[in-house]
Amino acid sequence: MTPFKLAAAAAIFTTLLFHPGCAASTPSAPPTPATLGVVRAHGRLHTAGNRLVGADGRPVSLAGVSYGWSQWEAARFYNADVVNWLKQDWHATIIRAPLGIHEEDGYLQHPARNLARVTRVVDAAIAAEVYVIIDWHDHQAQLHSEQAVAFFSDMARRYGKHPNIIYEIFNEPKTGLTWARDVKPYAEKVIAAIRAIDADNLIVVGTPNFSQNVDVAAADPLKDPNVAYVLHFYAGTHKQGLRAKALKALELGAPLFVTEWGTCDASGKGPIDEKSVGEWFAFMHEHQLSHCNWAVYDKSETAAIVHRSAGSKGHWREDDLSPSGKYARTLIRGWGE
Ligand code: MG
Repeated sequence: MTPFKLAAAAAIFTTLLFHPGCAASTPSAPPTPATLGVVRAHGRLHTAGNRLVGADGRPVSLAGVSYGWSQWEAARFYNADVVNWLKQDWHATIIRAPLGIHEEDGYLQHPARNLARVTRVVDAAIAAEVYVIIDWHDHQAQLHSEQAVAFFSDMARRYGKHPNIIYEIFNEPKTGLTWARDVKPYAEKVIAAIRAIDADNLIVVGTPNFSQNVDVAAADPLKDPNVAYVLHFYAGTHKQGLRAKALKALELGAPLFVTEWGTCDASGKGPIDEKSVGEWFAFMHEHQLSHCNWAVYDKSETAAIVHRSAGSKGHWREDDLSPSGKYARTLIRGWGE
């Protein structure tokens, strides 16, 4: 372990010590300087080598939360009040809004209601001056490229002038899809459509095997100058082997973005693995990665940050948070970058 890693691990441990059981019972903690106007402070994000930097060229490392799929247990939380609560109480500097695509009741079946949820969150994030990821939440987006092109063209027209916006064009390519044959050609098509309207906002692209094979993408990168590659980890499932792939990608010069991480296993279930989370957080500190915890929803499984008792407009009490929610909140509040 390098001194840097030790320092990061110590910082996390100290954070945990001094926020025992989390302080969610304080319902309206005032905003901190770190979260007031993070977008005003950093401006539009762009890549510089394997780092993300702000408009002034300084590295930026964001900590925040992803909503769950737009059509299911997360739907009632897609509103400005929850965005503001995540900023104010969780100190989130980034919010992710996953537009559920092809699964039951997703965007392909019910475009209007799912689009309305995502745009409510995007509009609220812009007003709150936090970053926001517009996520095409699909495991086989290469089959829906026409719809993705139309959607992201619309998003670029509506939002491309805002520095808050990050486009995530393919959440998790499922096992069996390859970078060269499936994901890269899809990404080139969707990126071309976005760039015809919005020349400059950051685009993040999922990588094969549920956004784990970042090394494969890094070895055959996209030509666009403002693209980062998506890395997902679930602490109970993914350990040093996945960090080795991430390190290889970084060494190849690829910027990475952790648009999802979980405290438990990759199914969203199983025990919280604090040892593994600690190792991942040290890694993310060392490499200044940005990250979103999965997720804002109230299903009865480990990864859901709230219980069904939680109000739809935030102002959650400690009892409303799941164990994973309490833990993630402490880590996000302690990120401090
Ligand atoms: Mg723009």
